[in-house]
Amino acid sequence: MKDTFKHKGLRQQLVKVLVDKGIKDDAVLSAIGNIPRHLFMDSGFLDHAYQDKAFPIAADQTISQPYTVAFQTELLQVKKESKILEIGTGSGYQAAVLCELGAKVYSIERQQELFKKTSKFLPKLGYRPKKLIFGDGYKGLKEEAPFDGIIVTAGAPFVPKPLLSQLKIGGRLVIPVGDDVQVMTLFIRKGPKEFEKHEFGDFRFVPLLEDKN
Ligand code: SAH
Repeated sequence: MKDTFKHKGLRQQLVKVLVDKGIKDDAVLSAIGNIPRHLFMDSGFLDHAYQDKAFPIAADQTISQPYTVAFQTELLQVKKESKILEIGTGSGYQAAVLCELGAKVYSIERQQELFKKTSKFLPKLGYRPKKLIFGDGYKGLKEEAPFDGIIVTAGAPFVPKPLLSQLKIGGRLVIPVGDDVQVMTLFIRKGPKEFEKHEFGDFRFVPLLEDKN
């Protein structure tokens, strides 16, 4: 698990690419500048770790493109101690970004293999989410609700109702919605039954799968 000067240099170049693509939040950029993304990927892809691209991880899933991670995280407006729920732990990279921002992170993954791997891996790098959960993200995490923010990192065919109802007033849900292509969508809870909705263009994610167990 090495993080060399070369890796650090490549990361700074990646940060510049993200700035050029319009990412402005300094805290998000410095989180990406700090996290050794190459260690979240299988060894065959190490050379690609600091390109702005998604790559395969275990269990037919992907580590999201850095731009997408930055874009979604910026929309969440994470503050220190914000209570954040992530759906789709995957490699743990997005969870690490949230930890770097000082959030209290809860993250759900439905693939056991990834859940186990990432649960062991994140603490080795010094990232300590409050809780990693093996389960179905469609249901959210009622026992820990309400959240300041919820981020969905897989393409949702529809917006799961529990995720909206588990937001604090003022809380934000960032979710890519759609089947083949997803529209990045932000919901802000304005009242018990009032939500403001904003849409931000097309992205592509692996699908958010319904639990068939
Ligand atoms: N945030 C991850 C991205 C992983 S890709 C990262 O930074 O690497 C999306 C992840 O969502 C996959 O690991 C997939 O297994 C998971 N997923 C899909 N449907 C899910 C569901 N219903 N509940 C929880 N996780 C789900």
